Amino acid sequence: MSTKNNFFSQRVDSENQDIATDDMLLSNVTITIKREDTLHEFVSGNKYRKLKYNVTEAIKNNTSCLLTFGGAYSNHIAAVASAGFEMGLETIGVIRGEEIADLVADNPTLSFAKSKGMHLHFISREEYSKKTDLDFIKGLREKFGAFYLIPEGGTNALAVKGCEEILNAKDLDFDYICTPVGTGGTIAGLVSASGSNQSVIGFSSLKGTFQSEVIEVFTTKKNYYLTDAYCFGGYAKIDSQLIRFINEFKKNYGIPLDPIYTGKMMFGIFDLLKQGYFKENSRILAVHTGGLQGIAGMNQLLENKKLPQINL
Ligand SMILES: *Cc1c(COP(=O)(O)O)cnc(C)c1O
Repeated sequence: MSTKNNFFSQRVDSENQDIATDDMLLSNVTITIKREDTLHEFVSGNKYRKLKYNVTEAIKNNTSCLLTFGGAYSNHIAAVASAGFEMGLETIGVIRGEEIADLVADNPTLSFAKSKGMHLHFISREEYSKKTDLDFIKGLREKFGAFYLIPEGGTNALAVKGCEEILNAKDLDFDYICTPVGTGGTIAGLVSASGSNQSVIGFSSLKGTFQSEVIEVFTTKKNYYLTDAYCFGGYAKIDSQLIRFINEFKKNYGIPLDPIYTGKMMFGIFDLLKQGYFKENSRILAVHTGGLQGIAGMNQLLENKKLPQINL
């Protein structure tokens, strides 16, 4: 099959960018941000990594359609729509919540996905909970014909393989590798690619650290630590302290953070630094997993709640 523009065909490496704060100078700790958010305009961050080998596999199987699942603000939905558009593949997004069908024009993520040609299929929350059942998937195949299925959040073995490529040989010099955690696929790839002398710290964006079960499926290495101390009450929950932190961070370092994942991780890293968690003279690599497309949607929700906006 021919593809229009296969930007997954080569291995790519993002830039490492150093930042400096007084707290870091005091303990002689350095923080370097791995700018995965700059990999591609729309297929950015860990979603680029997670899609790479899945899309390659779909093309190898001669499948011309990708089908996946997500919520109304999903970075994954936006990335799949954009990757499909650029590579000449059809895309179907199965979206949680029938009521959202009427709100597409006002929703930045879904209107973006639609503009990239994604067919949006809305289902009830109850149906959505069956999205991994074989019968349910069979029903989707009867409705839509053949497709390559990418799970919600994109985590599977091929996604983890792609996430291993976030790290290059030079990154093995860092003492700590920090990453935001959702389903756990990204951290699984990082742990798998890390050196045994490195500690991988995962900042869960949702309550709980159940993602260790996912990590264990993909690697036997144990050099990681998961915390949900910086989830701000749960997935997509944020407060004015986090918004202030994100806006200050952008002002000080010129690096935008998203409110769901990377903002919470950086807040956590700065807090652990203040607490003296990191060894003196250690070097920290923080992975900026992208997610910036979600800021527009979050700002709409913030405006409704009369909270301050996240500056882009
Ligand atoms: C999806 C996403 C994550 C979570 O990745 P998992 O592999 O599900 O743990 C982290 N950061 C950003 C910006 C994301 O979009």
